[in-house]
Formats: sequence, structure tokens, C-alpha cells
Amino acid sequence: MEFPSRLIEEAVNEVAKLPGIGKKTALRLVLHLLKRDEEQTQTLADTLVAMRTKVKYCQKCHNLSDNDLCTICANPRRDNSLICVVEDTRDVLAIENTAQYKGLYHVLGGIISPVEGVGPSDLHIESLVQRLGAVDNEQVKEIILALSPTMEGDTTAFYLQKKLRPFKLKISTIARGIPIGGDLEYADEVTLGRSILSRIAYE
Ligand SMILES: [Zn+2]
Repeated sequence: MEFPSRLIEEAVNEVAKLPGIGKKTALRLVLHLLKRDEEQTQTLADTLVAMRTKVKYCQKCHNLSDNDLCTICANPRRDNSLICVVEDTRDVLAIENTAQYKGLYHVLGGIISPVEGVGPSDLHIESLVQRLGAVDNEQVKEIILALSPTMEGDTTAFYLQKKLRPFKLKISTIARGIPIGGDLEYADEVTLGRSILSRIAYE
């Protein structure tokens, strides 16, 4: 692509680095910004920088958060006898969208995958163990493993239930209703909501 301006070329190259955006789409977005008020581009840039520099991870569950504790952990109306273990923040959003779950979460930050070189120590598993062992957390009664029904998800679930066994908690899984090999975030809300309500004991 030949550009009439080096500044436009640089902007297009940066936007095209985002996933799912090719050079053509990037050019369309850049030209769109050029047509709009300068202020709008400034707001977009400021918002992105603020998001990137200020967003934190919840100290308790590792969900994305603006504060030390995320809005879910900080909400006294959530049921703190339940912890739902998920791969990443997108799964928290998907489950929250079902409006069927009122417990807490624990975000692993990935999934065990020998192929991609991700082992248990790369994930927030130790902090879950510590969380359960903390004196103020004696109220946790059930751990729900809400992991994708893939080989990696199964490996992670197996590892977790071995690791959590000493705590004598109820361990359940939401496998039912989610298509085998499917991704949790792509499951429709009704299916995902139902699979949380009708969870089954992990075997
Ligand atoms: Zn949290």
C-alpha cells in the first residue's frame, strides 16, 4: 500500500497490529478518525492510555479491576461460599451475563497446556490454595470448575481437584450443556447459565 503521508502510514501500521484488523480496515479506521473532530481522537487515545496504565488485577481473584479488589470481590451481597474457577476475565464476563451466578471467582490467567509450555506454576493456582487456606475464608464450601471442555481444560481441572482435595470442599464442574471442545465464552447465555445451575460433582 502506497501512502500519501508517513503519519498516516504509521497510524495504519499501529492499528493493523491489533488482532483481527488487516491493513484495509486499519486504513478505513484512520481515515474515519481524520474526518471526525480532533477531540474525538484525543479522547480515544487518552482512554486507551488510561486503561493500559491504570487497570489492575484484583488482589483476591485476579479479575481485571480499577481497584485493589474487583467489584465482585468487594460486593458484600455476593455468596462467598462459592468460588467459580475460570480461565480468564472473558469467562467471568460470560458467566456474569447469564445473571445466574452470585458467588465469587478465581481467574487462573490461562490453562495448563504442555503444547504451549504453560504449566501449573504459570497460573494463579497457588494463590487459590492460599485463598482457601486463609483464616477468613473458612466459609468457602464449593469450588466450581468452569473450564472449557477441551483437553487443556480437562488437564487443568484434574490438576486442580488433586490440589484442592485436602480442603474437603465440594468440587463441581459445569461441563453439561457446553459442547465438547467448545469455548466457554462462545456458549450462549442460556446454555451457560443452565450449566452453572445444574453443575455436577467432579469425578
Ligand atoms: Zn476479585
